[in-house]
Amino acid sequence: MSECVIPTLTSMEVVESKSVLPDGWKADLSNLKGLDLTQPVLELMRRTTSRLPQDVIDALVKGRDAEEEGSRAFNTLNDMVRNILLADGNVTPLCQDTGTVIFFVRHPYGLSQRAAKKQIRAAVVQATKNVWLRPNCVEAISGKNTGTNMDPFHEGHPVLHFEEWDRPEIEIAVMLKGGGCENVGAQYRLPDATIGAGRDIKGVRKCIIDAVVKAQGQGCSPGILGVAIGGDRVTSYEKSKELILRKLGTAHADPKMDAFEKEVTNDLNTLGIGPMGYGGNTTALGVHVEEMYRHPASFFVSISYMCWSSRRRVMTISSTGEVSFD
Ligand code: SF4
Repeated sequence: MSECVIPTLTSMEVVESKSVLPDGWKADLSNLKGLDLTQPVLELMRRTTSRLPQDVIDALVKGRDAEEEGSRAFNTLNDMVRNILLADGNVTPLCQDTGTVIFFVRHPYGLSQRAAKKQIRAAVVQATKNVWLRPNCVEAISGKNTGTNMDPFHEGHPVLHFEEWDRPEIEIAVMLKGGGCENVGAQYRLPDATIGAGRDIKGVRKCIIDAVVKAQGQGCSPGILGVAIGGDRVTSYEKSKELILRKLGTAHADPKMDAFEKEVTNDLNTLGIGPMGYGGNTTALGVHVEEMYRHPASFFVSISYMCWSSRRRVMTISSTGEVSFD
């Protein structure tokens, strides 16, 4: 029987003391043309690669404590918690796969997306040199690794989504999306006779259950699922990924959808797949669903599966230049 680990991450004072940003660093958002995001984004990477968000840790601990002590499921979840504490304490990656690096940048009018892209790419190159990121960017056919996490042809990696908004602050969210869990994502076109799924919410439920049954423990369960209903093939998948950024335990704005999310999560946890597929009650930590508009002829259900090592973080640079991380 393994010793039960009660997780306590290093204090914020310790995290701050290791920051790559100079003490009291502030941005000048009145001069967006002169703004350099390289260092703050590098600090964002440092905090993301080694430290899981508290809501994910809480969900893993809750899952562990709900398993029978000494069972494979209990021990596996306990090892995940140990892993979390080691990575945080040593500022080392939580998993050997540091994933595809995906950014969502929201910014006020006046920020040059071209300049921001260059700076974010420079931060990713530096994070790779610092071994906070594994070089995960290889040529599709040859498999040749660029060694820098850069896609030199189409600048497709890191993945960058930009959106201008009316607010004065800059918000940069990052997600490190593991390759194993990306492989078990799925897109369904309803109706789908193979799983008996029609164009309704029951059909959506069947898609979710089918995707998780097919994944079994691959993709490193317990998983967090982003599910987009509608859209086209691309926007649907994009939305499903973005949904993984939502904190676990936060309610859906639509009470009906909220009830559906909870019901499907419970259903998944009766499948017996468990952590890493070793059996148990903890197969999914959460399911986040959004409905989109669609073409009348198409009904897509896109499912992005995020592994237990759900590394995500949001950096905000306020209108007065202070930087914060959540
Ligand atoms: S799926 Fe996640 S936990 Fe599993 S190897 Fe990939 S990054 Fe690591």
